[in-house]
Amino acid sequence: MMTLKQKVAVVTGSTSGIGLGIARALAGAGADVVLNGFGDARAIEDLRASLAKDFGVRVGFHNADMSKPAEIADLIGYATKEFGSVDVLVNNAGIQHVAPVEEFAPERWDAVIAINLSAVFHGIHHALAGMKQKGWGRIINIASVHGQVASVNKVAYVAAKHGVVGITKTVALETAGTGVTCNAICPGWVLTPLVQKQIDALAASKGIPEVQAKAELLGAKQPSGEFVTPDQLGQLAVFLCSDAAAQMTGANLTMDGGWTAQ
Ligand code: NAD
Repeated sequence: MMTLKQKVAVVTGSTSGIGLGIARALAGAGADVVLNGFGDARAIEDLRASLAKDFGVRVGFHNADMSKPAEIADLIGYATKEFGSVDVLVNNAGIQHVAPVEEFAPERWDAVIAINLSAVFHGIHHALAGMKQKGWGRIINIASVHGQVASVNKVAYVAAKHGVVGITKTVALETAGTGVTCNAICPGWVLTPLVQKQIDALAASKGIPEVQAKAELLGAKQPSGEFVTPDQLGQLAVFLCSDAAAQMTGANLTMDGGWTAQ
């Protein structure tokens, strides 16, 4: 049984969806966890307290906006000061905007690039020295199938996720032999609030029921016909933190129901 006792994990964007699934899995493996993300303050406090109680680990929350470099520095600073170190950094926070290139508002481009790409750089930039000093660290970047293949109407998202794969490979080379690894996870469709918005938009635009919109979304891309779950991605993150994965670095691990095999 994998144990991450004595390790501190920072998971960005962990108040819902994939980030929450990863935070839960890391806590389940014994790590102390620092949550981050937006949401109702009361609901976040309940989440923080229930994770701590369920798994008997320390759980903190720091309200940093990942589009703001100074707040990313504060997040890493908070975890280091309050928890002692940052041993695992999961760069997960992300947003999406859907529009054809010529209609894609430049401020939406800036926002998607800031949160989905630049924040990955800033987080690693601030956390890496501490990991190298300890001779152990795990950086896990949540990219996407769109870090490998394109999609219409998602120009900033596709650019950001390809960039995340590039950051992952570069950091893997720069940290090789230091005890720090850096890998990307590339999920296909996962049923989270981010994807629910696309399902709702599809159902509304075609005038079809939600269940049919879900089937259309999956059928078009994901041969398994099923959504990947946040828990499955959490277990993959735990594996990447294990000794078995010590030599795995610079990898892009797809969990996409066969999407990119086509
Ligand atoms: P989600 O909307 O459920 O969760 C996103 C999280 O990021 C939330 O906690 C939100 O509060 C947080 N967040 C958003 N903007 C932020 C900001 N500026 N500062 C701090 N936190 C912020 O989305 P999700 O589907 O769980 O997506 C998580 C990651 O997984 C994203 O990077 C996304 O691109 C990636 N991904 C998702 C899917 C999918 O199908 N859902 C597929 C591939 C990749």
